[in-house]
Amino acid sequence: MQELLKKELSYVSQKVFARGMIQATGGNLSVRIPGENTILIKRSGVSLGEMTREDCVVMSMGGKKMEGLGDPSKEYRFHLGIYQERPDIHAIVHCHPNFAIGYGSLGMELPLPTVTAKKILEYVPVAESAPSGSEQLAKSVTQLFREHPSIKACLMEEHGICATGKSLENAFDIATLVEDTAKQAFIISSLKANHSIIEGGLRSRGSITGVN
Ligand code: 13P
Ligand code: ZN
Repeated sequence: MQELLKKELSYVSQKVFARGMIQATGGNLSVRIPGENTILIKRSGVSLGEMTREDCVVMSMGGKKMEGLGDPSKEYRFHLGIYQERPDIHAIVHCHPNFAIGYGSLGMELPLPTVTAKKILEYVPVAESAPSGSEQLAKSVTQLFREHPSIKACLMEEHGICATGKSLENAFDIATLVEDTAKQAFIISSLKANHSIIEGGLRSRGSITGVN
C-alpha cells in the first residue's frame, strides 16, 4: 500500500509541475496512509517535477519523522493541522499558481464566476500572509479549515493555494479548478473593464447612439 501511495505521490507531484502550477522547488503534497496514524509527505527542497518514490517521507500525526531520506516538507505543520481538523480529507496539494496568487495577494477570497466553480468549490477563503514554514502560517491555514468545515481549498496571501481531497488525484483536480477559476475570473474582469472602456469610447463618439 505504502509503495503504491509513494508512486501516486510522485506521479501527482509531477503533474502539478507539468501544469505550471509551481516554480523551482516550491510546493508539497501529502496523503494519509490508510489504517495508520501517519502520512506520506514530500521531502523538503525537492522540485515537484523531479519527485520520485525516494523523496517521500513518512510522518506521524504528532509531527515525528518515521521514515525516509532528508527532512519532511517545511509545511508539514499545516498538512498535519488540516488532517487533524478534517477526518474527511485524505490528501493535500500545496502549490504556487499565478492567477490564484494574484487574488490571494489582494486578500480576496476566490471569485467563483462559473457554475462549475460555484457547485464544486462553494467558498474559497484566503489565509493571512505569514513566512513559509512558520507556525503562524500553519495556524492561519488550519484555522480556516476549522472555521469552515466544508471548504475544499483556500488561497494563501502572498504565497499560493492549499487544495484538498479524498485522494491525491481528487486534490489535484481541486487545485487545477482553483487556478483555472482564478484565470477565468481575471479574464472576465478584464473583458468587462475593456468592454466599458470601448463602450464609453463609442458612446462619446456617438457611434452607439444611432448618430453615426
Ligand atoms: P518544501 O520544499 O519544504 O516543501 O517547501 C516548499 C514550499 O512551497 C514552502 O511553502
Ligand atoms: Zn509554498
